Amino acid sequence: APASLPARHLFSDPAEVEALRGNLLAWYDRCKRDLPWRALVTARGVGGVGASALTPALLPAVWVSEIMLQQTQVATVIDYYNRWMQKWPTLQALAQASLEEVNELWAGLGYYSRGKRLQEAARKVVAELAGRMPRTAEDLQKLLPGVGRYTAGAIASISYGQATGVVDGNVIRVLCRLRCIGADSSSPAVIDRLWDMANVLVDRSRPGDFNQALMELGATVCVPKAPLCGECPVKQHCQAWRRVSLFGKPSPVPDVEDCCVGDCPLCPPATEPWDSSLGVTNFPRKAAKKPPRVMRTATCVLEQRGCHGASEYLIVQRPSSGLLAGLWEFPSLPLAQDLQEEKEREELAHHLQAWMGRPVAAKGLQFIGEVVHIFSHIHQTYVVYSLRLDGDVTLDPALSPSRWVTEDEFHASAVSTAMKKV
Ligand code: SF4
Repeated sequence: APASLPARHLFSDPAEVEALRGNLLAWYDRCKRDLPWRALVTARGVGGVGASALTPALLPAVWVSEIMLQQTQVATVIDYYNRWMQKWPTLQALAQASLEEVNELWAGLGYYSRGKRLQEAARKVVAELAGRMPRTAEDLQKLLPGVGRYTAGAIASISYGQATGVVDGNVIRVLCRLRCIGADSSSPAVIDRLWDMANVLVDRSRPGDFNQALMELGATVCVPKAPLCGECPVKQHCQAWRRVSLFGKPSPVPDVEDCCVGDCPLCPPATEPWDSSLGVTNFPRKAAKKPPRVMRTATCVLEQRGCHGASEYLIVQRPSSGLLAGLWEFPSLPLAQDLQEEKEREELAHHLQAWMGRPVAAKGLQFIGEVVHIFSHIHQTYVVYSLRLDGDVTLDPALSPSRWVTEDEFHASAVSTAMKKV
């Protein structure tokens, strides 16, 4: 790090770094949560060397958990993780799975491209790397699709014992508080500094445990809104905590601790000084997010009587790239904004006609209601219609894949959470 940065933003004292590592690891050994991927790493040993003859081809336990945990809570991931590892314990097994099977298991977890890319990467390891996983963060990131800097660092440190740091949302929060970093924590300059810090801090003999400990601290103690500083194992190393304890609330001298307001690349901007009512949660700070894109989509639940008299519903497959790639849905059509209801029906009827191969009367569509679903960057409103059909409908095989399913089959298919709401 540049020498010009004040010490409060750095980990420059080797004795302090050593003490912080020791305190954090001792806490982790006492308090870590029991999670299935941790049990699997322990059973296999660091380096992934277990007793099985299949060992070189085992699917790294951490890889799957890290991909699933991106944007999804631990509690939700556990069941998906166990089913995934049971179904595809080896790279070869995952490489042979179809995208349909992957999507079916992933259904409900969101951000479907994650599962798809995980499988593509497994195929690449099997087909192009002779079934051998890359073992360093650099190679993992370079060679495997869907593996970014964070995931590469996590796999390399936890599965293969490489002394390399990781930076995820939890680590960003903890490091920004430990070192009073109030500049925009999503800016590339700050992120680079945080990676430097993570690499300085990581314990050389237990890098995987250290990285998990730092993330665990962010997930359970140094949480976003009401951190449990009193119970924190590293509070004596925390500049934000020091500042709160020194000045209490409210701070009598608001800016005395800021190094060189307006000039320091890691301090809050001069226009957003320390807010004593926020305490340590002054950090981290982020630039305001862009508002999500607003979209409206008409969707129609087409129903017919199946051969045994039970209701069947038409689902069609989405394109193999883009949002919700390869998933199944009720026939749907994105709508222009501010479209009149009558026009909306006409466009949907026209769209359905292509699927049915016969005219569909717009007035036959029954409006059911609206369903709102928030994707990370899209505020999607589904305008839901239904239509009951008489007689057999023969689907045109020249169009995208489509099929009739019962309600049970619908729920077992690779459909998104948004469609289940519909
Ligand atoms: Fe986070 Fe508080 Fe611990 Fe500092 S003392 S690292 S703010 S929990």
